[in-house]
Parts: sequence; C-alpha cells; structure tokens
Amino acid sequence: MTYKKPTTEAEKQQAREAAQAITAELMERITNRVDVLAEQLKQGASEELLTFMRFTARFHTYSMNNQLLIWMQAPAAQYVAGFHDWKRQGRSVKKGAKAVRVLAPVSVPDHDAAPGPDGKHPHKIVGFKYVSVFADFDTEGEPLPGTEFMTVKGGDEHTRALLAQLSSAAPVAVEWQDEEGKAAHGWTDGGKIVLNRPRCEAEPAHALRVFFHEWAHVELHFAQAGKRAEDCPDRKTRELEADAAAYVLSSFHGIEAAAQVSDYITNWGGDAEKLRASLGRISRAVTRIMGHLTTHPNGRRAAPLSTAA
Ligand SMILES: [Zn+2]
Repeated sequence: MTYKKPTTEAEKQQAREAAQAITAELMERITNRVDVLAEQLKQGASEELLTFMRFTARFHTYSMNNQLLIWMQAPAAQYVAGFHDWKRQGRSVKKGAKAVRVLAPVSVPDHDAAPGPDGKHPHKIVGFKYVSVFADFDTEGEPLPGTEFMTVKGGDEHTRALLAQLSSAAPVAVEWQDEEGKAAHGWTDGGKIVLNRPRCEAEPAHALRVFFHEWAHVELHFAQAGKRAEDCPDRKTRELEADAAAYVLSSFHGIEAAAQVSDYITNWGGDAEKLRASLGRISRAVTRIMGHLTTHPNGRRAAPLSTAA
C-alpha cells in the first residue's frame, strides 16, 4: 500500500473522515471489550480480566482505554512507542510491522477559563484522534532497556528490603503497629499507612500486598488525611479496587498473590458500567503509585502518550 499525502480539499476531507471512522471504531472496540469482560465475570470466568490487569502495570502511563487497545492489538508487548520515538532510542521499526492504534486527546485553548500566570488559557479536550505506535517486538536496533527495576528476586529478605525501599517512596508515612487484637492486616486514614505487625511481619510478600492495598486506598478514596474523596464508591467497591490495584502492583514486582476473584464476580459480573468505572480507577491508582516508585519517571519507557484518553 502506498501512502499519498492528501492535497486537494476533497482528499483532505476524505482523509479526515477516514481517520474519524477509525477513531470511532477504536472507541467501540474498547466498549465491546469491557462488555465481554463483564459478561465473562458473570459466567464466573475471571482469567482474562486478571491477565488484562497484570498487563496494565507495564503500561501504567497510559489511560485505561489505551491499555485495553494495546492489550487487544499487541498482548505480548513490553513497550510501545511512536516511530520517531523508537528512532530516538536507537531502534527502528521493522519492515511490515503492524501499527498499534491508540487514542490521543485533541485539545484546544479554553477561552472560557481564566488564563494562567503565563497569560495563556488552559487547554480543554475536545475529542480524540488515533495515533500509531509500535510494539517492541516489531523494532530492532539498540538493546531494549532492562525490566529488572525493583523486582523481587529471592526470598523473604529481599521482599523485606523491597518493602522498605517502596515505603520510603510513598507519599505518606508507613508505620508498623502491634495490634494483636485487631483482625485488620493494615489500615489507612489517607494520611498514613499502618501495617499490623502480628498479621504481616511473618510474611513479607503478604505485607507488600497489604502495603499496596492501603496505598491504593490513599490514592483513590481519600481527598486528604482523614477526609474521604468526594467520588468515593461504596465500601465493597472500594475494597475491590484496592485489592485489584494491589494485585497488579504486587505481580509487577514479582509477587504472585491471589486476587479476590469471587468478589470481583459478584460485584462486577455482568455490570459493564460498574466494571468500566472501577477499571478506570484501578488504572489511576496504579499510574499514581508507579509514578511515585519510578525514580526517573518512565526512563525505561519510550515517550509515553498522554494519559488523558
Ligand atoms: Zn481495604
């Protein structure tokens, strides 16, 4: 197929319409996929949802919609980037590579909003357009950046060290308390994370999971210390979101822990809207937490696209 740059007004219009049709189709694929995931849960099948959730940690700088699009088109991808971004990293896109289409927001200056200190109006998103990126396996050249970053290798001592390292990167204090009488393994008021020593200390992998769970609550369900976020869902949903975020983050760090799948099934099974909202929130928690944990933000990831899609 040869590409000819549109020149006449009619050709340009045709190109615009074709692009709009592709964008609409991508949006529809996202919707359909969430419907399928919700329907699978209803049938008691959670494997695909869990696979998708684990996949999202690799692409934590992307919006949930783009995570779904990358997953559907290139489930084996470790990285994706645009043609020129790969070039800048010393790699070139292979001949015959298949583009992965994702959505990027289209924004314009918002003249209704007050200008910022620089005298410019803030931008508002008015729509989306598709852009093409390529998966790492469709490129060649300089070696890919490593993926060893903060992954647990070895036993409990490494996990303890990792937990200490991650705790220092958290935006709130992380404390250990001795509450033998409490059944809870950890808790938070949005201002600090507490790990209950008698329930957590013996099993560092579990402690790490609890730590991520509480951190997800901090990110998603509190506006500030002691104050709930306004858009806070019901308690059960809050717990599922924190559990799912902890599942994603733990598995990203090399810790396999079972997710509360039976609760996912009862809460989200068949309810695509609810699942969509929660997936968006889980993705947000993972993005924020990974943002804190990545010392050089996405140094190992090629030019992330906007996360607003
Ligand atoms: Zn919780």
